[in-house]
Amino acid sequence: MNYRNYPMVSRVVFGRGSFDQLSDIIEPQRLNTKAPFIYLVDDVFKGNVWLTGRVPLAYNDKMLYISAQEEPKTSQVDDLVESIILNHSERPSGIIGIGGGTLLDLAKAVAIMLTNPGEAKDYQGWDLVKNPAIYHVGVPTISGTGAEVSRTTVLTGPDKKLGINSDYTPFDQVILDPELTKDVPKDQWFYTGMDCFIHCVESLNGTYLNAFSQSYGEKAFELCEDIFLNGDLSIEDAQDKLMMASWHGGMSIAYSQVGIAHAMSYGLSYVLGTKHGIGNCIVFDHLEEFYPEGVALFKKMKKKHHIKLPQGLCLNLEDSELDLMITIALSLEPLWENALGKRWKTIITREKLKSLYQKM
Ligand code: NAD
Ligand code: ZN
Repeated sequence: MNYRNYPMVSRVVFGRGSFDQLSDIIEPQRLNTKAPFIYLVDDVFKGNVWLTGRVPLAYNDKMLYISAQEEPKTSQVDDLVESIILNHSERPSGIIGIGGGTLLDLAKAVAIMLTNPGEAKDYQGWDLVKNPAIYHVGVPTISGTGAEVSRTTVLTGPDKKLGINSDYTPFDQVILDPELTKDVPKDQWFYTGMDCFIHCVESLNGTYLNAFSQSYGEKAFELCEDIFLNGDLSIEDAQDKLMMASWHGGMSIAYSQVGIAHAMSYGLSYVLGTKHGIGNCIVFDHLEEFYPEGVALFKKMKKKHHIKLPQGLCLNLEDSELDLMITIALSLEPLWENALGKRWKTIITREKLKSLYQKM
């Protein structure tokens, strides 16, 4: 057995208001006054002085607002890297991503592509990155994806949606300030929170499970039950706990893998552009056959928070679109193997997937 030797986020701050320490934390990493810090900030915060007024811009530092309406693309990463190189005489001192999974993944990918030749699509896969990324910092403003702690940055490329999984992907520094999540809209809070819940279910019910993953997965699962089913938590407690659930959920899948909801949600996302959180919810809602207890709890949570998921997404799809969706889902072999074991191909056929998609 050859065990994997995983890198982790090397530094993390946790606490309400800890965002105010950003300057103290990153300033020692400034290479020189011409080497800027580049902030990639979710454009939902444009005009939000409470947040952006605390970003410690100095010298040639730059704040770039980026929309999270669409999930990150390899071409978007390449464009960002090109514009950073063209607009600055020196390589940046660091990249700081402020936002949800979309912005965190963009920050990781840009940090990698500033030191590695070629295009982002060349690095989609496992361990293809040759050179260490530049210093990069993640500041999540919505909780659930675990992108703040993971070893991947998920990108949609010309022919696949796949992460850049590498030892250089994890952040050098993460700032966990639960207060930053205070204005997340309720539906989005649920969808992204459920991403975390689904990470736990898929990890805990997977064949790759081991004590490392289980210990993190169980903790995150317990926190999710507390947040989404127990009505007694204060808003602050719920924010704090969801931020830690996201972290633990991410740690749980680091040493195992996600499963069926993620594989199928990638298909939805590739063909229809359905976003990760809501896509996982739409799929997971129909997976009681594979995850009976997890899906029952999910339905309870959905009911408690009055969440109505879109229906009939795949009803009017062309055969070619359904085919592509199925091909994308099936290409994620480790996810299926984790969910169903080495003989998963005998259980999951193209017809089976078609009948599942047609329910969604
Ligand atoms: P997101 O980043 O797209 O954000 C969701 C929505 O919430 C956006 O409209 C955003 O503007 C808004 N938002 C974020 N913070 C807010 C705040 N504080 N106040 C108000 N609105 C706010 O969504 P997400 O669910 O966090 O991330 C999804 C992305 O993460 C996908 O691209 C997915 O592929 C990726 N992902 C990555 C990993 C990983 O390990 N790298 C894991 C899971 C998902
Ligand atoms: Zn996920």
